[in-house]
Formats: sequence, C-alpha cells, structure tokens
Amino acid sequence: MRSKMKSLGEFELIAHLTKALPLSSRTILGPGDDCAILAPTTHQQLFTIDSMVEDVHFRLAWGTPEKLGAKALSINLSDVAAMGGKPIACVINLAVRDGLDLRFFERLYRGVRQVAMRYKIAVVGGNITRSEKLSITIALLGEASRGVMRRDTARIGDDIFVTGTLGDSAAGLAILSGKKKAANAPLKFLVERHLNPTPRIKAGLTLAKLRPVPAAIDISDGLIQDLEHILERSRVGAEVEATALPLSKAYRATMNEDLSFALSGGEDYELLFCTRPGLSNAHLTKALGLPVHRIGKIVKGSRLIIFGKKGVVEPKIRGWDQLRAND
Ligand SMILES: [Mg+2]
Repeated sequence: MRSKMKSLGEFELIAHLTKALPLSSRTILGPGDDCAILAPTTHQQLFTIDSMVEDVHFRLAWGTPEKLGAKALSINLSDVAAMGGKPIACVINLAVRDGLDLRFFERLYRGVRQVAMRYKIAVVGGNITRSEKLSITIALLGEASRGVMRRDTARIGDDIFVTGTLGDSAAGLAILSGKKKAANAPLKFLVERHLNPTPRIKAGLTLAKLRPVPAAIDISDGLIQDLEHILERSRVGAEVEATALPLSKAYRATMNEDLSFALSGGEDYELLFCTRPGLSNAHLTKALGLPVHRIGKIVKGSRLIIFGKKGVVEPKIRGWDQLRAND
C-alpha cells in the first residue's frame, strides 16, 4: 500500500480521495481546477476553519480513521451551528506524514463523507502537503438565512441555556489517556462522545429563528471559558448554578460529584445560548429536539459567578474540587 501511495502524486491522491465525496446543486465546479465555483447567494455567509493535529488534538491509537475524519468536519460544523447557520461547502487540507498508507486515508475520507452527506455539505476542494505530523484542516462555508447568533449580543436578564450534557468528552479523553477508569457502559458512551461529537446544526437553525436572536457559542473550550467569551464580547456578567449543570448518567457514574469536567472540560460541542427570560427547559427541549437546561442568567458587571452547593466559587480558581458537593 505504501508503494501505491508513493506512486500517487498529490493530484492523483486528491482525485482518488475526493471522487466519492458529495457535491451539491450549489456547486458549479468541484475539485480539479484552481478554485471551486459556487453559485451566488443572497444570504449572509459564514466562513470558518479548524485544524486537528496529531498528538495535539488526537492520537491515532484512540479511534478509527473514519471517526477522525468525521470529527474533523463535525467540529467545523459546530461553529456554523453556534451562529445558527446552515453548512454549505468545505475544502480540506491534509498534511500527511510517513507511515500511513492509502487505505488509512481512504478510511479517513469515508468518515468525512459520512458527515458531509448527512448534513448535505459539498466537499469542493482539497490540498495535500507533507508534514512531520498528520493534520486535517477544514475550511467551511455556511449561510445564515434566519438570523445570525453572535457572542456580542447577550443582554442583562437573559437566561443561559445549554444543549445536551456537559463534561462527557473530557471524561472520555481522560479515559482514553489512562487518567480515569470507568465501567464498560459509561466508558463506551464517554469515549464515543469524545471521538464522535454531534454538531447541533438543527438546534442552531431553530434558535436563530427566535427574536431577539439569542447570543450563542459552541462549547469547545469548556463551559467557563466559552461563557466568558460571551461575557467579554457582550460586556456583561453571569451567574451560573453548578447544581443545574446537565450531566449524563455515564458522567455521574464515572465522576461522582466532581464537576470539574462539566465546568472546564472541552470538546462537548454543545450550544450555549442566552435568550430573553420566559422560555422553559421543556419548551426549548421540544423545539430543539434535544435536552435543554437553564444553567443561569446574564447579570450586570463582567464577572462569571458560579454558585456551588456551599456558596459562591470564584471561577478564576481552577481547583474545581471545591465544587464537589461531598467536600
Ligand atoms: Mg466555536
């Protein structure tokens, strides 16, 4: 297989890997020319890029090539979801290192293709470079036809909600890297949440229809950091109830009362959004088609204050053990 890879030049490899990838009615010209051509649109366009680098963001031993390809696209989709947009088209840069065969890249692209087809994204171009480390960089174009959710529009009095559950991905990562043990069923769930996150595209599109349009962000760096991005950009403060954080059964079974991953663990790719008060968990859960929980509210000031079971905990203190209810 190595020899086959060697005998394929960059252009042949791109052609080989991209031939089965989906295009869309918006694609006037796909891979194969200097640029792709997309049909014009009257909607606002969203444009984002993200990389996954070996030994920085992943290790090959942790999962399959398919999951790696799927995740590389999913994390970009999550950024479009966070703005309330619809993903349209992407281009992929693959930095390849020695020691990986053609079969590996075919499997990686199979993962990309599965996600691209599921969300109807055209893969309109690619580039391949040589590198010391394997990395996958994807630039994704989306569009917003219903309103754009930004980080700088949170208002005092807004309720803060999150989709899904928090901390699962970080717990999965801790298991994969041997820092945490878990029973079989929770282990599978948490590891899967790390390797194969779900971009909340539909939820984002639904939220973007609300008026006023909510402020929103996807939780990629952890609840605290990402909420702080909203606070900074919107020039407001927030109060969060640690006891209201949504935790999965698997998280509780593995972490007990330890909330550190739910507060500071990254890569859940859930949406955090701020809406005018009056919407209930039940209403939003039904409208978005996945569990939604209110975790706090936007207040005057610039600080994030977290209320644990024993009172206020300064968010700047990183020893989250203080939030363990049993301490
Ligand atoms: Mg993001």
